[in-house]
Amino acid sequence: MKIAILAGDGIGPEIVAQAVRILEALKSDGLKLELETGMLGGCAVDATGEPFPEVTRRLVTDADAVMLGAVGGPKYDTLPRQLRPERGLLGIRKALNLFANLRPAILYPDLANASTLKAEVVAGLDILIVRELTGDIYFGEPRGVELRDGQRVGFNTMIYSEAEIRRIAHVAFQAARKRNRRLCSVDKMNVLECTQLWRDVMTETAKDYPEVELSHMLVDNAAMQLIRNPRQFDVMVTGNMFGDILSDEASMLTGSIGMLPSASLDDRNKGLYEPIHGSAPDLAGKDVANPLATILSAAMMLRYTFDHEAEAARIEDAVKKVLAQGYRTQDIYEPGMKKVGTVGMGDAVLANIVG
Ligand code: NAD
Repeated sequence: MKIAILAGDGIGPEIVAQAVRILEALKSDGLKLELETGMLGGCAVDATGEPFPEVTRRLVTDADAVMLGAVGGPKYDTLPRQLRPERGLLGIRKALNLFANLRPAILYPDLANASTLKAEVVAGLDILIVRELTGDIYFGEPRGVELRDGQRVGFNTMIYSEAEIRRIAHVAFQAARKRNRRLCSVDKMNVLECTQLWRDVMTETAKDYPEVELSHMLVDNAAMQLIRNPRQFDVMVTGNMFGDILSDEASMLTGSIGMLPSASLDDRNKGLYEPIHGSAPDLAGKDVANPLATILSAAMMLRYTFDHEAEAARIEDAVKKVLAQGYRTQDIYEPGMKKVGTVGMGDAVLANIVG
């Protein structure tokens, strides 16, 4: 199991170091992991002049999975667009053909007060949103703004082939199979033909997964239900644009950006794993950033790329215990809890892994 480690910029190196400690501990317990580090983003620009240099391209192509911290920072904001750290991110996603984005929104019972919603609505929330990442209206052609009859007209094309829908459907059904076996597909079939096809292909694919219960929901209702009663959902699957919006909505139900991991997968479950937050330049070098999103990304990697469910659960259980023991970084701190820094949080998780 070859893992490319790209710490990136800002808090990236600090938070990734804690996830690496956890992976090293599992390695000592017999898990066959090979970790190799590389550069992406601003640090790569500094060292090589490019955000996604050839040496990194080779490293991630050879690896089975990639663990990423975050990229970017004010130092790079004035660079020409093709040299910005974010270009490195787009480059790696494209190079690895990562079409499936998996974003869990989990609210640990001990953090129920972190949400802006009432604790009784969100306590115990555990949703997985599967978003198609390389198609839909974001990439469809034709697109543009042009003059028609003397006025500007803007247009984009919502387009999905059945092959694109089917491959994300398989990812979602397989993810649901590893969880509570309920999948809700979100579309807008009442007005968009493209999403009628989405619904039809989801229904056809369901025949391969008789153990998973498939339901369908219109996107406007899904946005409302996520706020009204989010715990009704197990796995949700949707297209690129609806997924963009719903996954941000769902992640914010938990109220804690430092807690949420993500995975982006190709059609052979090779994946890029990263926290959903950015490089937080305001926190860099201060030993205050929350490393749990990155540590939980490592758990997702063991589950989705390597099929090591037991080790994934071991990391997630350790995180739950650490929260129950009262350890908090400043972003999730409440009076009466034990405030720790980035390394201190890593220590606490490690103690629960090896303990
Ligand atoms: P951000 O996610 O870095 O920070 C938003 C807020 O959340 C900040 O107040 C920050 O201090 C806090 N925060 C973020 N991660 C945290 C953690 N682990 N623990 C505690 N608090 C945390 O978003 P931003 O400020 O908009 O962007 C900063 C830089 O990150 C920019 O250069 C942006 O382009 C980049 N960025 C990168 C990625 C990525 O690498 N995938 C994603 C988003 C933003």
